[in-house]
Amino acid sequence: MNTLKIRNPASGELVIALPADDARSVAVKAMAARAAQPAWAAWPLADRLACLRAFRAGVVAELDTLATIMTRETGKPIRMARNELNGLLPRIDFFLAECERAIAPETVYEESGLREQIEHVPLGVIANISAWNYPWFVGCNVILPALATGNAVLYKPSEYATLSGLEIARLLHEAGVPRQAMCCLVGTGEVGTALLAQDVDGVFFTGSHATGQRIAESVGKRFLKLQLELGGKDPTYVCEDADPQTAAESLADGAMYNTGQSCCSVERIYVHEAIHDAFVEAFVRAVGAFRMGDPMSEDTYIGPLTRTPQLDVLAAQVADARQRGAKVLTGGRVGDGPGNWFEPTVLVGVDHTMEIMREESFGPVIGIQKVRDDAEAVRLMNDTRYGLTAGVYTRDETRARRILSQVHAGSVYWNCCDRVSPRLPWSGVGDSGVGLTLSKYGIQTFTRPKAWHLRSAG
Ligand code: NAD
Repeated sequence: MNTLKIRNPASGELVIALPADDARSVAVKAMAARAAQPAWAAWPLADRLACLRAFRAGVVAELDTLATIMTRETGKPIRMARNELNGLLPRIDFFLAECERAIAPETVYEESGLREQIEHVPLGVIANISAWNYPWFVGCNVILPALATGNAVLYKPSEYATLSGLEIARLLHEAGVPRQAMCCLVGTGEVGTALLAQDVDGVFFTGSHATGQRIAESVGKRFLKLQLELGGKDPTYVCEDADPQTAAESLADGAMYNTGQSCCSVERIYVHEAIHDAFVEAFVRAVGAFRMGDPMSEDTYIGPLTRTPQLDVLAAQVADARQRGAKVLTGGRVGDGPGNWFEPTVLVGVDHTMEIMREESFGPVIGIQKVRDDAEAVRLMNDTRYGLTAGVYTRDETRARRILSQVHAGSVYWNCCDRVSPRLPWSGVGDSGVGLTLSKYGIQTFTRPKAWHLRSAG
C-alpha cells in the first residue's frame, strides 16, 4: 500500500505515515462521487446550507485542536493557525448569506406568453487540488460553495497539509454531507495526476505556476471548466506623503506574515526617494521585532518554512541579489537545523536584473527599491508576468486610484496589503491564473447558466 509521510517542518520529525491513494482508489472514489452527485444536488438548498452551518459549529468546537494539527504539519505559528480558522468563520457566514441569492433563477424576459429564464445548475463533479499555505482558506473557498451549489467534490489537499484536509472532510461528513459527495484523496502530485484523469466536470487548482501550467496542458483538450489560482510577485509602492513608520510596520507584516508564505504576501516594495531611508530604517526595526522560533509558542511570529526545498530557492535568490550589488540589511541565511529555518531578510539596492524582484520568493525575504516618481513605480510594478495583488501607500486617494488603475492585478490595495475579503472576488491576471473564488461570482463559478425559453401554449 502507498503511504504518505507527514513531517513536522520545525523539527523534521515524522508526525505520521498515512495510507495514501493510488490510481485505482482514485478511480473508485471518482465513480462514487459521480453516482452520488444527482441525489446531493436534489437536496433542498436549505438542507445543504444546514450542513455548512453544522460544519462551522464543528470548526468552532474544535478550533484549538485543528490549529495544533495545522501547526504540526505546516509549521504555521500557532496564533496564525488560530487566526486562519477564526477567519474562516466570516467566509462561511458569507456563503450562508449569499448562496441563495447568487444562484436564484432569473427571469430576464417576459412578454406575450414568452418567458426567458436563467437557471444556475451545478457543474457536477469537481476536482479541487490545493496548496498547503492556508489549507483551510484555499480548501474551503472551493469546497464550501461547490457543495452548497450541489456539486460533488473530490478534494486533493497538498501533501504538506493533508491532516488539515482530512479534518475538513471529517467535519463536513459529521455535519451531514454524504461521504461520496465529499471525498478527500491522500497523496502527492501523482494522486493529483490520477484525479485529473477521472470523469470530472471542473478542475479548481490552487498552487504554483509550474503545476498550474502542467494541469492546464493535461486537461486542455477536454473543455472542462478550469480555474487556476497561482503565485504572485506582489508589489507595493510607498509615496513620499505616506508616514514611513506606519507604512513600514504594515508592510513588514504584509511581507513576513505566515513566514512570507502567502500568495498575496508583499514581495516587492518601491519607495519614493524622499522617504526611502526613513522607511527602510523603520522596516528593519519592525522586522527585528519578529520572533523566530517554535511555531507552537504563542509569541512566535516567524516559523519554519513548510517545504525544505524552498530554503535553497531563498538562499539562491539572496546570493544572486548580493552578487549583482544588493545589500542585505538583516538576515540572509539559512538557520541551524533541524527544521527548515530561514532568517527574515531585508535587501536594499535591488533592481529588476535580480531574481529577488522577479521570481516569487514565498518566504520571509523582501527587496526594497528606491524610485523617483509615480511613473517609474507604475512601470516597475507592471514589470512582471504575475498579477495577483498590488498596493499603494499615500494620503491621497485620487493619486492611489490613478496609480492602481494602471497596475495589472486581480486585487488592489490602498494603505493596506495581504488582505482577502469574502465579499470581493479573488483572482489573478497573467501568470497568476484564471478564474476566481469568493464573492457572489465565486459561488456562481461552481454552476453553469442554463437557458430556458418557455412559450405557453395558446
Ligand atoms: P504546488 O504547485 O507544488 O502544489 C499544489 C498542489 O498540486 C498539491 O496538492 C500538489 O500535490 C499538486 N500537484 C503537484 N503536481 C501535480 C500534477 N502534476 N498534477 C496534479 N496535481 C499536482 O504548490 P504549493 O507549493 O502547494 O503551493 C504554493 C504555491 O501556491 C505558491 O506559488 C502560491 O503563491 C500559490 N498559492 C496561490 C493562491 C492563490 O489564491 N492565487 C493561494 C495559495 C497559494
